[in-house]
Amino acid sequence: MIELSALSQQLLHFSPDALVLVDARGLIQFANETVRTVLGYAPEQLVGQPVGVLVPERFRAQHAEQIAEFGRHPSSRPMGGRAVGLCARRADGSEFPAGIRLAPFVWQGQTYVGAAIRDVTERQAITEALIAARAEAERANRAKSRFLATASHDLRQPMQTIRLLNAAMRKIAAQCPDIQDLLRSEELAIDAATRLLDGLLDIGRLESGAIDPQLAAVALASVYADLQREFASLANAKSLALELPRVAPTLSTDRLLFTQLLQNLIGNALKYTERGSVRVTQRLDAGGFEIGIEDTGIGIPTEKLERIFDEYYQVDRTGAPRAGVGLGLAIVREVARLLGYQVSVSSTVGAGTRVAVRIPRQKLHPDAVLGESVAAVARAAPSPRPNGRLVLVEDNASVRMATELFLTLEGYRVLSTGSAGEALALAPQLKAGDLLLADYRLGTEMSGIDLLHRLRETLGWELPAILLSGDLESLLRVVKEPIRRCRFLGKPVDSAALVAALTEVAG
Ligand code: ADP
Repeated sequence: MIELSALSQQLLHFSPDALVLVDARGLIQFANETVRTVLGYAPEQLVGQPVGVLVPERFRAQHAEQIAEFGRHPSSRPMGGRAVGLCARRADGSEFPAGIRLAPFVWQGQTYVGAAIRDVTERQAITEALIAARAEAERANRAKSRFLATASHDLRQPMQTIRLLNAAMRKIAAQCPDIQDLLRSEELAIDAATRLLDGLLDIGRLESGAIDPQLAAVALASVYADLQREFASLANAKSLALELPRVAPTLSTDRLLFTQLLQNLIGNALKYTERGSVRVTQRLDAGGFEIGIEDTGIGIPTEKLERIFDEYYQVDRTGAPRAGVGLGLAIVREVARLLGYQVSVSSTVGAGTRVAVRIPRQKLHPDAVLGESVAAVARAAPSPRPNGRLVLVEDNASVRMATELFLTLEGYRVLSTGSAGEALALAPQLKAGDLLLADYRLGTEMSGIDLLHRLRETLGWELPAILLSGDLESLLRVVKEPIRRCRFLGKPVDSAALVAALTEVAG
């Protein structure tokens, strides 16, 4: 039978790691056979040497301090914590990346430290390759996201033209039911394409890291009032009750991103519910604030829940028409990540779905307990007024033509211009009651906002204005202060929304 001491000697000598035993003075008292292959020394060459010979010269001072520190707090642990980048020195002076474990122990009244040294060149190379591959994948993903954002942004301009031409043709062909049907189908297709472009632009921008949340005190009541206005007609059309809280706290959040998050969740709840209600609930507790979006719709099978936040994922419902493009919840996921919120979903097929958005306590505004009445904010909404004369400034000829045609058919008298300079030249003719509809980007000359300020200065009164932008979100981030009697709309603008906004600023 092999004696244990002989076995342990064999194990020690031929362990896969080089082992050295160092005494309290820092001198090596034992080295195993593996030091030959790992460190290039014969074991007997090392005995009696300071352990510093195994450390590259430039690290020796630091190493001496570390030994002293280890002596004060001895424990079994990897050297240098879990820090990567440790190096050991071979007999021939060459270096290699090393993994080193230290174990203190007392033997015959003397304190020793055992060190197990392993050559981790290969492991380090694999780790570095993995880090590089990951960085490359992230770079490619960001490039894809930037491409998506740019392409969807640039497609908005032609989409705007098509949308307005469609609206104009519907007016012209008011008496022809067949053409109306065709144009209505075309409008539905335009709506679908616009939703896709919006989704692609949003997810592209969120994922490319181009968005930096702008936190401010946001009265949730006013967000609810906007959402109530936005979704009321859809809820009515489906005979669904849409219930939003009557009072709400103030949050410290990014208003645009936060609204986008709720828009997607309420939009989904309405989209996937045919009967019953969509309710938004809220709860303030010790941990924070929770907003629940609950519907009585078709529900989501449990095994699909973990995938619904993936881009383009849609629950497969055989035979059912596709209602969206599968980007809504991916946008919710990205917005929640940026704002530091948690989103969770529970659902029962056939009974309904509940999405909970948890906002940690530290992200609430100090006035969180004070509720502002949603009804009071909603009442502040303006009432419609009759149409008048309008200066249109749009540098793209086809968009200008389509917009002019549409607005003329809506009953506006349009003074159409292609540049800020032309619009400024019209100033002497303008009188109270006129409106400005301008693109935000007007070539290099000046922006729509600059034009508005110049016109208002020249006129001496507040010319009401609508400014259109292909990238509304970025524009709203630039404009810190609201401009009185000026509304910003994103392209491609919905024809009804454009008319509503014109009526609003005119009031
Ligand atoms: P979509 O544009 O298809 O709505 P989303 O990313 O918003 O894409 O949602 C992904 C999928 O999750 C949807 O296709 C739908 O099948 C499912 N889903 C999301 N919200 C609900 C809900 N409230 N009720 C039922 N199913 C839902």
